[in-house]
Amino acid sequence: METTSHSHGVEMVQGRCRICGDSTEILRLTEFNLKLCRHCFARFFERRVRRAMEKHAMAGEGDRVALAVSGGKDSTALLFALKRLSLVMGFELLALHFHLNMGEYSDLNLDAVIKQAGLAGVPLEVVRIGDLGLRVQRVKGWNACAVCGAIKRSLLNREARRMGATVVATAHTLEDVLLFTFKNLLSRKYYVPRPVLPASDHLARKVKPLVYTPERLNLAYCRLRDVPVFEAKCPQWTPRGHSLKEVFEHMEEVMPSGKLQLLLSFMDAFPAPGDESEGARRPCARCGEPTAQELCALCQLSDWFASRPPLREERPHGLEP
Ligand code: AMP
Ligand code: ZN
Repeated sequence: METTSHSHGVEMVQGRCRICGDSTEILRLTEFNLKLCRHCFARFFERRVRRAMEKHAMAGEGDRVALAVSGGKDSTALLFALKRLSLVMGFELLALHFHLNMGEYSDLNLDAVIKQAGLAGVPLEVVRIGDLGLRVQRVKGWNACAVCGAIKRSLLNREARRMGATVVATAHTLEDVLLFTFKNLLSRKYYVPRPVLPASDHLARKVKPLVYTPERLNLAYCRLRDVPVFEAKCPQWTPRGHSLKEVFEHMEEVMPSGKLQLLLSFMDAFPAPGDESEGARRPCARCGEPTAQELCALCQLSDWFASRPPLREERPHGLEP
């Protein structure tokens, strides 16, 4: 009978590693029909990331890669894996974190990322959105998550250029890309995000090295390498909207590796559009960033926030008015 143990949410069993043959605690990878020990799993994970990067020519010798790190399991796993890969693949690695101006949550998040970057030995740039007059809050027809996403997207381009990065990497996972594609399909938009967006005027190449990697493996990589992960839930987070992910998990139970196969099928079925950038661009009238409108998203948002006081802070639990 198998003995099961848990390394902070990652289930390990006693068994024999398929690669090195050691009898020890092993991780079962049903997606790949593999059982691997801690050491061989780390190598396996890094090789997968490397293969995706090489397949799509994401980065190589002489590149300066800026990785956007949130402190969560996905970008943390990618930070530590890319650090190792940077040494063998010959690119330079920098980390970039946005302090999202959400009080103590963002302060603790920043502390965690500083610690991770220190452990990984990767230089870290921090941008505080509060310094730019921005906050994560509902705006006009946009919910807070859409505002946050727009801020991060714009800042990523701007900061990458300031840092002299030739490549910008995010930790979007197999599930992220599937979910995005699936939502599009449900409104009859036939579009799959691509692993690489080529550089264009003013914008660095954008890459998603974890596009073929399920999230579960990212958590396992962090746990098995004893890397601390920032696990606090974002104060703006609501369970709604994430439930489509359960469809994929169910599919994966019925058909191991189903998520990956589905993504690969989508990619085959829907050819990449010629130009994925959002139409013609011109310099923002105020800051000069490329935009499709008169003012870029960041300038529009900071105008909006400047004209309105912050929403009242929520009262701490248990305090009645
Ligand atoms: P999300 O929009 O939260 O799904 O995040 C998408 C990607 O953006 C992540 O994989 C990270 O690479 C990056 N990211 C998320 N939050 C931050 C942050 N606070 N600072 C820097 N990068 C982030
Ligand atoms: Zn602007």
